[in-house]
Amino acid sequence: VLEWAKHRDSFLDELIRLDGIGFHQEPLSCHDCGEPGGIYRCIDCFETQLCCSSCMCKEHARLPFHRIEKWDSGYFQKSSLQLLGLQIQLGHGHTDITCPNPSTTHEPMTIVDVSGIHRVHVNFCNCPVSNSVPRRTQLLRARLWPATVDRPQTAVTLNALDAFLQLTLQSKLNVYDFYLALAHLTDNWETLDLKNRYKEVSRCIHEYRHILMAKRSARGHDPEGINATKPGEFAVECPACPQPGRNLPD
Ligand SMILES: [Zn+2]
Ligand SMILES: [Zn+2]
Ligand SMILES: [Zn+2]
Ligand SMILES: [Zn+2]
Repeated sequence: VLEWAKHRDSFLDELIRLDGIGFHQEPLSCHDCGEPGGIYRCIDCFETQLCCSSCMCKEHARLPFHRIEKWDSGYFQKSSLQLLGLQIQLGHGHTDITCPNPSTTHEPMTIVDVSGIHRVHVNFCNCPVSNSVPRRTQLLRARLWPATVDRPQTAVTLNALDAFLQLTLQSKLNVYDFYLALAHLTDNWETLDLKNRYKEVSRCIHEYRHILMAKRSARGHDPEGINATKPGEFAVECPACPQPGRNLPD
């Protein structure tokens, strides 16, 4: 630490530098297309350059939960891919972005991820091939856990669910504190008018745990399904307990 302490000023300088536009000079032009209006940066991409809104959306078609900031002549303010017009398309395995029969949600969906809470315009697929695939299933196939089975408006990424399970196992973190930490990560000044989704997240975690338990107990391979689970089938056998014929002296 003593060696590091000599360099404290340069660490501080670099942190402050990251709050500004670095080596870019105004007027700002887009790094990708060269057009004026290169005022957006992504703080989740590696070594991001300043881009215009349309290049930013193009680069993030498959990275919809990245956090975007907008240079407002003097400082960076929070923006989002949704504000820049990004829409994500479900139901085509992420291959064909232009679904011929998309159905949009009226309002953007709320997606809770480890990176924070996002508002995302989600287009569901209405194509004949996926006609029988309900919206909740289209979300699950994109690794998003829907908060309701019917017309879901909120979903939690599997990444966020797995992160919570590890955090709670290691540090006994509860869902309320997990949710608040994500909310503050997204909007510490509470200026974005974020809707409270604690109940929805809590329900998703509850359901995810239950389904994981069923998965680990091989309930997915029983044609009768989870309802046919017999008493004790979810239980994990304790390897330390004495079992006649196995770890008990004859
Ligand atoms: Zn551009
Ligand atoms: Zn990015
Ligand atoms: Zn990738
Ligand atoms: Zn489609």
